[in-house]
Amino acid sequence: MASPEVLWFGDTMSAVPLKNDKPAARHPRSVTVLGATGSIGDSTMDLLRSGGERYRVEALTAHSNVQGLAKLAREFNAGFAAIADPQRYDELKDALAGTGIACGAGESAIIEAAARPADWLMAAVSGAAGLKPALAAVDRGATIALANKECLVCAGDMFMQRAVQAGARILPADSEHNALFQALSSGNRDELTRVIITASGGPFRTWSAADIEQATLAQALKHPNWSMGQKITIDSASMMNKGLEVIEAAYLFALEPDQIDVLVHPQSIVHGLVEFSDRSVVAQLGAPDMRTPIAHCLGWPDRIAGPAAPLDLAKIGQLTFEAPDFARFPGLRLAFEALRTGRGATTVFNAANEVAVAAFIAQKIRFGAIARLVEATLEKWVRAGNLAPLTSADEAIAVDHKARNLAAALLPEIALKAS
Ligand code: NAD
Ligand code: MG
Repeated sequence: MASPEVLWFGDTMSAVPLKNDKPAARHPRSVTVLGATGSIGDSTMDLLRSGGERYRVEALTAHSNVQGLAKLAREFNAGFAAIADPQRYDELKDALAGTGIACGAGESAIIEAAARPADWLMAAVSGAAGLKPALAAVDRGATIALANKECLVCAGDMFMQRAVQAGARILPADSEHNALFQALSSGNRDELTRVIITASGGPFRTWSAADIEQATLAQALKHPNWSMGQKITIDSASMMNKGLEVIEAAYLFALEPDQIDVLVHPQSIVHGLVEFSDRSVVAQLGAPDMRTPIAHCLGWPDRIAGPAAPLDLAKIGQLTFEAPDFARFPGLRLAFEALRTGRGATTVFNAANEVAVAAFIAQKIRFGAIARLVEATLEKWVRAGNLAPLTSADEAIAVDHKARNLAAALLPEIALKAS
């Protein structure tokens, strides 16, 4: 937990369910997928496809890919389809003509999709834009597979507090956090001493700082192990993704920053480890395939068949581990600093990173400037005396917007500055 003054719940694990908190599984299960056309959305739809009659699709959403959304909505005979881009309503309506599938457009339609009564919801929008829709699901006490880490980084305390209040269950879908979730059930919450999340190290793991500074978009998009959306792939190259995940772990599992370690593990086979008081360390392993953690969330509290290749450790031969390099990957250092600072600093960290990644994609800044922009935004924010605990979604969103504006204002100066 970032800010010690926020006493947000007595039972620290009640939003991420405990091992003895297992409701009976019920089929067919109604499911909603927010961000159905993305990388996580695609893996989720794949699992639903294999599950056949076990699942009924309540609602699907996308940002602007109308044709992709309509195709999925038709295939799964969804109850509702929502497109975030308000200009695309007519196009979506035409694409669904004659199907009887209801549809909507704009942010309110995405929120409506989340609020509809599905038994299980995948939150896989990219970025802080996923916060309000995820909260709509939280507030109806939904069971939520949470992939959208930025919404936790943006408003983690408040998000988890609301989940506890509404009786929502948060199932961590991010591979490392899903590994921790699985490993945690080997002990009790008060026996946990430390968690370790692994990082592949990304495409620049062995690069010098000078080479990382100059890395191109094409180089940043070449992830060695995982196939993912564009933003998270760039975040993996800068290790900002691991920084976001450290913050995500702190909020999900109510951990202090010192209880979270990052371990570079280039093979991406061991995803997360939990250390208990007797010094036993329990890990979860699997091929780097997001369908495994998603299948765990979809089947929870049971296990379902997963399509990933079986793990062949003899073939892999060696699993290696290294300490992370905070100097070449300053984003990781900044994430820990923001987490320790609390009071909205992680919201600023996330907002500045989203602005920086967009600027890098638009070729307005060099790769090395991503972390510099985040650091400059955080520094200026703190110096201006803007730190304050976030108590509502509106406050978190206001900080997010203000921090984006600040980052955008600092952008030209950072773009000119050499490393
Ligand atoms: P993606 O870019 O491939 O897909 C994002 C989805 O969200 C798309 O369906 C898009 O249409 C929708 N979307 C984007 N902006 C939106 C907006 N403003 N309003 C409504 N919908 C919007 O991203 P992804 O790789 O699938 O990642 C999704 C989330 O899951 C991210 O938070 C990411 O960090 C997290 N995650 C991804 C992976 C992975 O392997 N891809 C792994 C762990 C966690
Ligand atoms: Mg991850």
